[in-house]
Order: sequence, then C-alpha cells, then structure tokens
Amino acid sequence: MNLILFGPPGAGKGTQAKILQDELGLVQLSTGDMLRAAVAAGTELGKRCKAIMDRGDLVPDEVVVGIIAERLDKPDCKKGAIFDGFPRTVAQAKALDAMLSGRKSRIEAVIELKVDDDAMVGRMESRIAANPGAARADDNPETLRKRLVVYHLNTAPLLDFYRGQGKLFSVDGMAPIAEVSDAVRGVLGRIKTSA
Ligand code: AMP
Repeated sequence: MNLILFGPPGAGKGTQAKILQDELGLVQLSTGDMLRAAVAAGTELGKRCKAIMDRGDLVPDEVVVGIIAERLDKPDCKKGAIFDGFPRTVAQAKALDAMLSGRKSRIEAVIELKVDDDAMVGRMESRIAANPGAARADDNPETLRKRLVVYHLNTAPLLDFYRGQGKLFSVDGMAPIAEVSDAVRGVLGRIKTSA
C-alpha cells in the first residue's frame, strides 16, 4: 500500500508517518528529511539545495523526483511507502503516478491533515520558545509564512488532482496527535473494506 500524508508545513505529517509506519509495515519517505541529510553530508545535491530550503522555496521537481525514484528501488519499499512532503507540485504527482505504475503499484489514498495557517505559526512559536536551540534553519515564523504561501500556490492545487482521482480523504489535523492517528486508521479501514 502507498499513502500520501498531505498538508502544509507544520501540519504533523512527519509525526503521523512515524507513528503509522511500523504498524502498517510501510516506510516513511520524507523528501525534506532526505534533502536535510544531503545538506548535512555536504553532497553536491545538498549544496545546490541548501539556500533554496533555507528561504522556504521548493527545490526543482527533477531533484526530488530523482531522489524518490532511486529510493523506491530499495528493498524496504517493497510493501509500500508513506509519502511525507512529496509530491508538492502537480508535476511531481504525475511523475509519482508514472513511477509507481512502472513498478506495478499505485497510490491508494491521499490523507489531508486539515489545519489552520495561523495556528501553524502559533504552534511553531511555542515550539521555539520551549526549545530555542533545536530549530532548523527554515524553522522560524517568517520562513514558515513563506512556506505556507508556497504551499497554497504550488501544493494545494494537488488536492483537486487527487480528488479527481477519487483518492482524497481529509482528517482534522488540529486534533491531538493520537486522535489524528485514529482518524487516519479509520480512513485506511474504510478503504480496505471497500476494496
Ligand atoms: P519539509 O521538511 O517537508 O517541510 O521540507 C523542507 C524543505 O525541503 C522544503 O521547504 C523545500 O525547500 C524542500 N522540499 C522538501 N520536499 C520537497 C518537494 N517534494 N519538492 C520541492 N522541495 C521540497
């Protein structure tokens, strides 16, 4: 099974992917984590992407599509993946559909974590206040606002793309973490029984 956890930065996609991956036997594929690892390792790719990421813009489609294509061929992706932070543009979504169909696979569900922008910024401010040293380079209220603009401009149109495919499900991302996980499990249960 392949799932996409969808939503703006700070919505809790990574948290939910980590909670669900073991129980579903799927692997979390976070392009953000992979890009940060490349930056930390000082690879050519990391050097190319660092400034783009720090200012809250999207790295080019072919970069993330290439990373995912390579990753999907690793044995741990055999049972499927939870995509977290990918796709972020319609071009990426089309490339993902093509990559999966070439591997006799497909996206079963896209689960949107519905959240409120202002609450996202508020959540981040309290996280930084609680733990000032731990912030990522793009983890500040100004860059988050920029990332939210980029989300609405480039990524939110994907909601229609997946709605059109009949794969879009929405849950309340503002609920406590455990309730969000339960809601996601509920969606997956409904998909299985209707399959
Ligand atoms: P994230 O941790 O998912 O919020 O990603 C952090 C940053 O990495 C983003 O603000 C982008 O600069 C870059 N990034 C991650 N995933 C993608 C993607 N699918 N497409 C383009 N840029 C991405």
